[in-house]
Amino acid sequence: METKHLIAADVKAGAAIIAKGGLLGIPTETVYGLGANGLDPNAVKAIFEAKGRPQDNPLILHIPDESWLERYCEDIPATAYELADRFWPGPLTMILPRKPIVPDVVTAGLDTVGMRCPDCAVTRAVIGLADVPVAAPSGNASGRPSPTTAEAMLEDMDGKIDAILDGGPCAVGVESTIIDLTVTPPRLLRPGGVTLEELEEVLGEVAVDEAVRRLMAPGEQPKAPGMKYRHYAPKAPVTVVKGEPDMTAGYIVARMGEKSGVICFDEFKGYFKGHPVETIGPAADQAEQARHIFEALRAFDHLDVSDIWAQSPSDEGIGLAVTNRLNKAAGFHIVEL
Ligand code: AMP
Ligand code: MG
Repeated sequence: METKHLIAADVKAGAAIIAKGGLLGIPTETVYGLGANGLDPNAVKAIFEAKGRPQDNPLILHIPDESWLERYCEDIPATAYELADRFWPGPLTMILPRKPIVPDVVTAGLDTVGMRCPDCAVTRAVIGLADVPVAAPSGNASGRPSPTTAEAMLEDMDGKIDAILDGGPCAVGVESTIIDLTVTPPRLLRPGGVTLEELEEVLGEVAVDEAVRRLMAPGEQPKAPGMKYRHYAPKAPVTVVKGEPDMTAGYIVARMGEKSGVICFDEFKGYFKGHPVETIGPAADQAEQARHIFEALRAFDHLDVSDIWAQSPSDEGIGLAVTNRLNKAAGFHIVEL
């Protein structure tokens, strides 16, 4: 199939693709998504096929505002509306009990569903015009780093989807925060643009799922099905080095091989002369690091590197999301200094 590259204003064309059961690349503030009519099981199945995604890894339903929550969810706690008032539209997905109208293929048979209202006016307009929730995972081929530009998504999806709406580079750069509101205390399943600290301000105690910070043992069943899969990985193996930035830079310089690539903070670029280097922003600017982490991981697939070393950001704020993605890309191969 030929994939159309639509300009961001082409809301009507995008909504028509969703309405007829097609696949549409959608811009959001987090990463590009691979969207389809979330009430049409065949359209949703096509998402799994295009991505090569395992069937037991559920999708998120995207809606234009919180008034749509009750169309698809039941027993909605008051905290869901408090979170929506504060963070929607924005990078927060809430896990809620689903209504029977939500097809099994969306939730991988779970009795809960992930709901999100993206901070992207064009995408909300498409969903509103199609008048159905849009089911979407990230728009990468399964296992690859998520796309933060239309071009990156086309690398994986050209010829497999009907069209992509180009909304320019994503403002956040890592996928949404996922909070499970069906358990007490609420549980953070995936760190993202809305920080743990911000969630605690609204919810009080928040549990952090163990899979956020460590590798799940074989046979261990994580709460978010997606957590058990290898993720975000470039082709070359990655080693993450944690510690003070000048220490980690020195450590990497001393150990890197002739064909090693490096992911580093802007200030340290000069340490790695003669090597392929991807900078992700200043050491102190975690929001900037979030915007560049996936592009950096993708870039190495076009370069001849034997392995990749990465300076690890710190864990505070959105840094928790950046380190989580980097650690997963490294298969939790981490050196702590
Ligand atoms: P992606 O944004 O590509 O990672 O895909 C959506 C993410 O939402 C996956 O990590 C899923 O595991 C997660 N997710 C979707 N629905 C649920 C649910 N009902 N319970 C737990 N996690 C979910
Ligand atoms: Mg994904």
